[in-house]
Amino acid sequence: MFLTSLLRILLTRSFKPFVFEGTYKNSLDFETLEDLGLYVHIPFCRSLCSFCPYCKEKYDKGKADSYKIALLKEIDLACENMTGKKQATSLYFGGGTPALMINDLEDIICKLKEHFIINGGIGVELHPSDITMDILQKLKAAGVTMVSLGVQSFNGDCLQKLGRAPDSFVEKLHLVRDAGFDVVDVDLIFAIPGQTDEILAKDIETAFKNGATQISTYPFIDFTFADNEYKPMPEEVKKKMLKNLTGYCRSINVERTSVWTFAKHDTEKYSSVTRDAFLGFGVSATTLLKDIFKINTFSIEEYIKRVNGHSLPTSLTLNFTKRQRAVYYLFWSSYSMKINADKFKKMIGTPLSEMYGLEITFAEKAGILKRNGSTYELTDKAAYIYHYIEQVYTTAYIDKMWNISRNIAFPDRIVLK
Ligand code: SF4
Repeated sequence: MFLTSLLRILLTRSFKPFVFEGTYKNSLDFETLEDLGLYVHIPFCRSLCSFCPYCKEKYDKGKADSYKIALLKEIDLACENMTGKKQATSLYFGGGTPALMINDLEDIICKLKEHFIINGGIGVELHPSDITMDILQKLKAAGVTMVSLGVQSFNGDCLQKLGRAPDSFVEKLHLVRDAGFDVVDVDLIFAIPGQTDEILAKDIETAFKNGATQISTYPFIDFTFADNEYKPMPEEVKKKMLKNLTGYCRSINVERTSVWTFAKHDTEKYSSVTRDAFLGFGVSATTLLKDIFKINTFSIEEYIKRVNGHSLPTSLTLNFTKRQRAVYYLFWSSYSMKINADKFKKMIGTPLSEMYGLEITFAEKAGILKRNGSTYELTDKAAYIYHYIEQVYTTAYIDKMWNISRNIAFPDRIVLK
């Protein structure tokens, strides 16, 4: 908490906290933005995993049908003032378990294509137990080019500690590999109690040997509202595991593509989080534009009601000061281990060197940043610092925000200090 406050004060040059207000605008200003990603949240799962903090409920066909209708309305509402079709860099379906609405995905994609030209890939998160030939064929037919499999671990003991049932993950991965997607991502969690570097290395090896083109590793984080029987290993163990898994990936000739992701060379890369700006649809979906960050209500019932009343389902909005927006930009760029000074200037309106010249000089001297033309590349040393800050930020900000949002559909305001 102290660290996030200190960083916020230093980087925004202000004691002003991040204030999310319950008041909202019924129109969004995104038409002139470059590099706009799209995100759709499907909040249904067959069963609920104890470690998972995301917004989801047990699947119910009637509810899912009503949700789809509301989702299509939200897309139309958000886009009703557009003057023409807008270019979008990518589309990602997360959840929850999007495959539970497999017969609706094509309609949702078609609705988005009424308003956007999607230039990059279309990605979908998949729970391994939902992978069948039929599902994969439907995804291909809908234009999906990237899938992300929530494996978490191939190791039975680690799965049990996460409260997850084992499945025939390798066979499922083969099915996905043979279906021929451009990107096959496998999610793996590290720092699960009892997990060793060897077990983790084996997980990574198994993923790549059986069809993954990239892996996304995440440290096990114990959200206050999760129901974890086992707790994550201590921070120093997490850091050591990240260091060792990075070394292992390099030893098998796999490149680091962000703080926590690693990919085979010469393959398409995909990240659901590194966008300069994005529009999110569905419950709990977030939207990041030039001047605002907003979050939709977490309540499916209230979401449907609000949209049916011809209003956006926004629950909280942060109206950025210029420096706050710059900090957001730097935070998410840093995750991809690259900060592009030209893009920064385009988004923020002031050169990076003018706003953060002192910090950059210090970071270069400390071996945290390396300049390469107009891009600053984060070193491995920086990745460990980021890994730590991201977890502190998750605990201090995201945990608090999600915890309140899970209980109150439309909070008056949330102040993050
Ligand atoms: S981990 Fe995946 S399947 Fe489990 S509750 Fe979370 S979203 Fe649902």
